[in-house]
Amino acid sequence: MNDCIFCKIVKKELPTKIIFENDDFIAFNDIKPVSPTHILVIPRVHIKNLWEVEDTLGALHATSLLGKLLLTAKEIAEQQHLDEGFRTVINTGDNGGQTVYHLHLHILGGRFHKWPPG
Ligand code: 5GP
Ligand code: ZN
Repeated sequence: MNDCIFCKIVKKELPTKIIFENDDFIAFNDIKPVSPTHILVIPRVHIKNLWEVEDTLGALHATSLLGKLLLTAKEIAEQQHLDEGFRTVINTGDNGGQTVYHLHLHILGGRFHKWPPG
């Protein structure tokens, strides 16, 4: 049994407005936005996090998927008119602040994002 909340969104078992999709990824708004634009981009297949990408997909497919993930984020940022800039974040493991264990990339936009983050 797969209790992953993001897999449920992929399978449409958890109604969520999809704002972008292609063969590999879907994207939707974060339920608790921390910026005016806060979008999550997730692979359709369940991958726990960055540590697990190669074990889940094999090295070749992992390289391709991770490249496509960044290019997809850029495409979504363009569609969302984040022309003044945006931040992309992938949290990995407990110290990285990962709370949902299905790989996802945050796109944050619509305000200035300071550095370093909290
Ligand atoms: P993480 O902390 O793992 O990097 O990010 C997980 C994100 O998923 C959080 O920003 C959280 O608000 C968001 N999230 C958790 N559950 C749901 C949900 O059911 N729907 C949506 N749209 N976002 C969720
Ligand atoms: Zn999942």
